[in-house]
Amino acid sequence: MPRLAVLGYPVSHSRSPAMHTAALAELGLGEEWSYEAIEVAPDAFEARVRAMPGEGFAGANVTVPHKGAALSLADELSETAREIGAANTLVFPHDGESGKAGEVVVRAENTDAEGFLRSLPGSPAGKRALVLGAGGAARAIVWTLLREGAEVEVWNRTELRSQHLCEELGGETVAAPAQTAYEMIVNTTLVGLGGEDPFAELPLVADAFAPAQTVVDMVYGGEPTALLRAAATAGATTVDGIEILVQQGALSLEAWTGRPAPLETMRAAARG
Ligand code: NAP
Repeated sequence: MPRLAVLGYPVSHSRSPAMHTAALAELGLGEEWSYEAIEVAPDAFEARVRAMPGEGFAGANVTVPHKGAALSLADELSETAREIGAANTLVFPHDGESGKAGEVVVRAENTDAEGFLRSLPGSPAGKRALVLGAGGAARAIVWTLLREGAEVEVWNRTELRSQHLCEELGGETVAAPAQTAYEMIVNTTLVGLGGEDPFAELPLVADAFAPAQTVVDMVYGGEPTALLRAAATAGATTVDGIEILVQQGALSLEAWTGRPAPLETMRAAARG
């Protein structure tokens, strides 16, 4: 009975248990596999993860605020997770008999980057992109966009953080972005999560989006965010946080089970 989980603090808002439980059922694995939400505080995170292989867990998703810690404690890192500096997926490749010298018990991956890329309507190669934010999600987005050949500018409320991010990963910081100059705009900040007005907190104007733009909001909730509503009104192409959640979750599921993920089922479950 392999177990799976999402680890976060808090975690009760997560759509991952509903999405993965539906996916496991669709794959005919619902009787064997299970997926649960585990709330774990930062100071208890490492001990919790270390205990999981011995408790029958095959893997876990990791969400705020543990993505950096997940990277630090892993025995083995994917190249992507190492370069981004954060992991959202843990794989426990062994059956819990840990302790042998050199044994890989915890492998860390990052599926946020590829999940984001798969959620886009087309390749970002050659596109001029504005990334808003410089936290963990921004790191994955900036890394992917640069790797795919986009021209990336990063705005953050705390400019020092965007400067550090660009020094490490590439891209240019921008203090006052010209909204119409970008073919792609990606919100990776927390703005909108608690109902904040994006046009008060971010350097964007509600009626200055253009039809040729792709606007992505990593924030997800039950309704389209105010940011995506304004972009859609202007005729821009929009991508919401649920689609990114589905795509990153699908890649995690494939890493754990080795089976192709049922995207439509996951989408329906994540959208509730
Ligand atoms: P994080 O590391 O805590 O970073 C938070 C970012 O938000 C920072 O850049 C911070 O700026 C900015 N911010 C917070 N409040 C702000 C405000 N009032 N005005 C302007 N900027 C503000 O968080 P994270 O892990 O990157 O996650 C960010 C968001 O992405 C969350 O909503 C998360 O749920 C979402 N996300 C979604 C998916 C998905 O699958 N859809 C995956 C990953 C993340 P400062 O540096 O100035 O504090």
